[in-house]
Amino acid sequence: MKFVTVIRHPLVQHNLTRLREATTEPQEFRRCLGEVGALMVYEATRSFATRRVKVRTPLALTEGLRLRREVILVPILRAGLGMLSGILQLIPHARVGFIGLKRDETTLAATTYHKSLPEDLRDFEIILIDPMLATGGSTVAALALLGASQARHVRLVNLVAAPEGIRLVRAKYPRVPIFTAAIDEKLNERGYIMPGLGDAGDRLFGV
Ligand code: URA
Repeated sequence: MKFVTVIRHPLVQHNLTRLREATTEPQEFRRCLGEVGALMVYEATRSFATRRVKVRTPLALTEGLRLRREVILVPILRAGLGMLSGILQLIPHARVGFIGLKRDETTLAATTYHKSLPEDLRDFEIILIDPMLATGGSTVAALALLGASQARHVRLVNLVAAPEGIRLVRAKYPRVPIFTAAIDEKLNERGYIMPGLGDAGDRLFGV
């Protein structure tokens, strides 16, 4: 599928399997989710734009590359927080914005309860983080908020994606790259990804 990358690296898949296991406790779940976040973002940032710069080593003047744009990580609350620590280890200079979305358990529609983002996102590389791409409702709502701040360079990092969620994002934002570790079978009647890993927020925080 165009603009969808399934990251099959063994370390990513190993962590995903630990995260899927029902017996994995919140402490271990947090560790694995942070670690997999770092591993996935290594792949997801491969196409970041760079610019050539001159650099003076202790011995000579040479050329190097720097990132062309500032990076902002935007976890969708609350499960997105689980991948944040690991990603920040890899990109410690990144800014961090937040989007809080709640999904109505009956209609599955997403409503915004929190947003902290720079007003103008035009020149940022934006990584929108949510471990679970389920119906796609939250992602589409988050992408609309980013769009309202003129975001142009957005990529999604999801650990597990449902075909339904990918389809919705693709329909509304056909060129936004999606990075995931797995495309699962389907959503169940309550909007959970099957086989998935359950409620990522509950498993992360224990409530
Ligand atoms: N959110 C989750 O945490 N898990 C799912 O399976 C779907 C949405």
